[in-house]
Amino acid sequence: MKSSRIPGFYKMSVEERVNVVKEFAGLTDEEAELLLSFSALPKDIANIMVENVVGNMQLPLGIATNFIVNGRELLIPMAIEETSVVAAASNAARMARPQGFTAKATEPVMIGQIQILNPSRDAVERIMERKEEILELANAQDKILVKIGGGAKDIEARWLRDDMMVIHILVDVRDAMGANAVNTMAEAVAPLLEKMTGGKALLRIISNLAIHRLAEAEVVYKKDAIGGEDVVDRVIKAYELASLDIFRTATHNKGVMNGIDAVVIATGNDWRAVEAGAHSYAAMNGYKPLTTWKKNEDGDLHGHIKLPIAVGTVGGITKVHPMAKLCLKILGVQNARELAEIIASVGLAQNFAALRALATKGIQAGHMKLHAQNIAVMVGAKGDEIEMVAGKMVEEGNIRVDRAKEILEEIRKNKKI
Ligand code: NAD
Repeated sequence: MKSSRIPGFYKMSVEERVNVVKEFAGLTDEEAELLLSFSALPKDIANIMVENVVGNMQLPLGIATNFIVNGRELLIPMAIEETSVVAAASNAARMARPQGFTAKATEPVMIGQIQILNPSRDAVERIMERKEEILELANAQDKILVKIGGGAKDIEARWLRDDMMVIHILVDVRDAMGANAVNTMAEAVAPLLEKMTGGKALLRIISNLAIHRLAEAEVVYKKDAIGGEDVVDRVIKAYELASLDIFRTATHNKGVMNGIDAVVIATGNDWRAVEAGAHSYAAMNGYKPLTTWKKNEDGDLHGHIKLPIAVGTVGGITKVHPMAKLCLKILGVQNARELAEIIASVGLAQNFAALRALATKGIQAGHMKLHAQNIAVMVGAKGDEIEMVAGKMVEEGNIRVDRAKEILEEIRKNKKI
C-alpha cells in the first residue's frame, strides 16, 4: 500500500520530489513536466480567467506529507507564500499517524438570498404555500444539477424589519462551489417572489455563511507522540486563551486558515468565499476559535474542527487552471465533500502545529531559516550566496537586512581576493 510518510522529502531536490509525487499520484510525464516548468498558467487561459490580464502572479506549491484522512494516505498540495506552513502541516500529520484524521462533511447545500422590500404582511405564508412552484422554477435553471441528485431543495423566509424580508433558497450544488449555480437560481425566482409577496426584490446572491455545508475533522494526538503530558496541557492552555480573548482568537483562526487557504488555492477554489464562511461561522455566537482541544481519559490530546467549506471539484476554474486540475489529481478526490473533509483535516493539523510550537519553543525558531533566506535574497544574494548569508545569520542569531548586506559584501570581497 502506498504511504504518504516519506522521510527526508524535505531534503530532496525539487526534481526528486516531483518524481515521488509522480509515482504516488500516477502523474503522466507531461504532468510532471508541468510541475517542473514553474509556469503552469498559459497566457491564453489566464486571459480568459479575469479581465485586463498583463501577467501571472505565482505562488510556491509545496507538498505536505504524512497525511492520513479517513484511512487514506494523502499528499497534500499547498499553494502559499508563507514560510513554515507546509513543514508544520507535514510535521503535525506525522505525529497524528498511524490513525490520522477522521473527517466528515454534510451534503453540499448552499444558501441563495433574495432580499424583498415592502412585502405584504402575509408574505411568509404565501411563499410557504407555493414553495413547490418556486423550487420548480429554480430547478429549471440547472438541469444537470437536478439530474445528478442536486438542485433547489427548500425555501425559508424571515422578516428582518417591518419593511424588509429575506428569502433563502437552499440548493444542493453537488460537486460545485455553487455560487454561479445559486446566483442564477436566485435571479430566476426573484420575479415570482415579487408577485407572491407584493414586494420588490433587490439583492439576489449566494450567502458565504454556508451553515448547511459543514465539514468537520477530529484527531487524537497520543501524548508520547507530541512530547508528553506537559505538552498536552500547554496546548490546551494555549487553546483556552483563544477561547477567552478575541485578540488571540483572530490569530488562532488565522493559523487554521493558513492550512485551509493553501489547499483551497492549490485546487483552484475561491479562498475569499471560504474565508468569509469560516469567520462568519466563527462569529455566530460571539467570535470563537474554529477548533477545540481537550484532554481525553488517557491523557492524550483530542482536537476537533468544524466550519463551512464551500469548495468544488467541478465549476469555477477547478477544471480550467492546469495546476488546479493537477492538484486535484494529486489529492485523488472523488467529490467536493471528500475535498472539504481533507481541507478541514489540514486546518486542524495546522492549528495543532502552531499551538504546539507557540506553547513550547515559540514560533520563531522554525521560521528563521527560510526567513533568513528570504532576507538574503532581498539584499541581492544569488545562487550559493543565499545559503551562505542565511546560514551565517542563523548561526549568529541575528537575522536582519543590515547584517545580511554586510555578510554579502564580505563574501563577495573574499571571492575577489
Ligand atoms: P460553475 O457555474 O462554473 O459550475 C457549477 C455547475 O457544475 C453547476 O451548475 C452544476 O450543474 C455542475 N455540477 C455540479 N456537480 C457536478 C458533477 N458532479 N458533475 C458535473 N457537473 C456538476 O461554478 P459554481 O461552482 O456554481 O461557481 C463558482 C464560482 O463562482 C467561483 O469561481 C467563485 O469565485 C464565483 N463566485 C463566488 C461568489 C461568492 O462566493 N459570493 C459570488 C459570485 C461568484
